[in-house]
Amino acid sequence: MGSTCANINMNTDEIRQLQSYIDQSRRIVFFGGAGVSTESGIPDFRSVDGLYHQKYTYPPERIISHSFMLDQPEDFFAFYRDRMLYLDAQPNAAHRKLAELESAGRLAAVVTQNIDGLHQAAGCRNVLELHGSVWRNYCMDCHKDYAIRIITESTGIPRCPCGGMIRPDVVLYEEALDPDVMRRSERYIREADLLIVGGTSLSVYPAAGLTRLYHGPLILINRSETPQDGQASLLIRDSIGEVLAQIRPS
Ligand code: ZN
Repeated sequence: MGSTCANINMNTDEIRQLQSYIDQSRRIVFFGGAGVSTESGIPDFRSVDGLYHQKYTYPPERIISHSFMLDQPEDFFAFYRDRMLYLDAQPNAAHRKLAELESAGRLAAVVTQNIDGLHQAAGCRNVLELHGSVWRNYCMDCHKDYAIRIITESTGIPRCPCGGMIRPDVVLYEEALDPDVMRRSERYIREADLLIVGGTSLSVYPAAGLTRLYHGPLILINRSETPQDGQASLLIRDSIGEVLAQIRPS
């Protein structure tokens, strides 16, 4: 708890400003990335470490691609089961506070680049998943839906009784975002009265371009620099969970 106390003292002014923005808003949109989930113990797979190269012949960006899934499905699913699934992860303070803000009638939507379902696990209802979800899976031939068990309780290539390959409903490299999710995200962001961006480097397009649709006050909460730091009305260089934990929902 010692470090938390030090943090509160350090950020009192920023937290007070953030609270004031939130208190004045009724249509907040939160736009988040991998940094929101790292605090739940889910690593950003883009932060490649040496272990990847020792264990896997290809970089993760190559394995988690549409063509690789079709060309080398056994290797794709081996990596996917090993590195992309964190099914025991629990929502952290950021997920919980956003769910509280939604219940309090302040938050209109969460737009996320994460595929782990932790916002919903925290009780958030209006979650727009730009990159899909590991919890949904479907047959590529007959389009039957499958729960996550079909992936975790199988080995090799998961197969539908129809013979088709079952794939996760996540957006792989080389694949387009779901146009309906994209349209709804754009609408929420355009109509927001406060946009809070957290845990994302704002470097992955087209998701990163979403912020350009918005012209109101922009709050940026991220541990490291982003290309849009200069546009922020309030910039907080800190852990998204520790920051949001200090906010009162109403
Ligand atoms: Zn099928």
